Amino acid sequence: MRKNIVAGNWKMNKNVIDAQQLMAQLLDYKKANATNCEVWIAPPSLYLMMARDIFENNEVGVFSQDMSEYESGAYTGEISADMLQSIEADGSIIGHSERRQYHGETDSHCNRKVKLALDKGLTPIYCNGETLEQRKAGQHLEVVKNQTETALFTLTAEEIKKVVIAYEPVWAIGTGETASPEQAQEIHAHIRSLIAAKYGQEVADEISILYGGSVKPDNAKEIFSQPDIDGGLIGGAALKLEDFSKIIEGFN
Ligand code: PGA
Repeated sequence: MRKNIVAGNWKMNKNVIDAQQLMAQLLDYKKANATNCEVWIAPPSLYLMMARDIFENNEVGVFSQDMSEYESGAYTGEISADMLQSIEADGSIIGHSERRQYHGETDSHCNRKVKLALDKGLTPIYCNGETLEQRKAGQHLEVVKNQTETALFTLTAEEIKKVVIAYEPVWAIGTGETASPEQAQEIHAHIRSLIAAKYGQEVADEISILYGGSVKPDNAKEIFSQPDIDGGLIGGAALKLEDFSKIIEGFN
């Protein structure tokens, strides 16, 4: 059956000393505690090689926060799937709402990135989710459907099975406002049913769908207990071991 995953998205936080310290704490934590989920982190790309060294036995999965839609060449500031593969990263977040909001990323970009990642043996964590205006207008199911279809439905069944999806309602990210477990479950079940309709139930049942948006130690357990929620993509609460470990323990 599909994996349970708690993934920390560090965003643009921590200098190298602080990053190294949190990775070391996380390694100690993983060695001392059996967890009922996989633990992944997406630190700033500058620290990915350090992360790979620290988690040399894959105690924690190492992901970038984004990657280029191009293979290589004159794309200043970008990192490629090939580079990520060459440092033995496990994958990349793709289509985070902050990339969409501040860098004009669309689901067509996401589609190319997801494909490139898979071609290099990397796991894409594909993010989608509606804005507050879209939710208020009752468009959330339609928005998430269009996003999922555009970004993922050119993949083969074998390919899509390797994708992890993160539903992150934009209005819940970094706002302290969380989707209720029922609201999140509704969208997760919706995404899974779209995949089932296109690829079959067996494929849909293999795909981990994470919830993201103000997951905290005190709400993680309830969110993770929903049948179609297979873990979380955690922003602010991934920056301290004390909080992140409690979220991981939401699976105990
Ligand atoms: P948050 O961020 O947990 O701080 O709301 C989640 C995310 O953006 O992935």
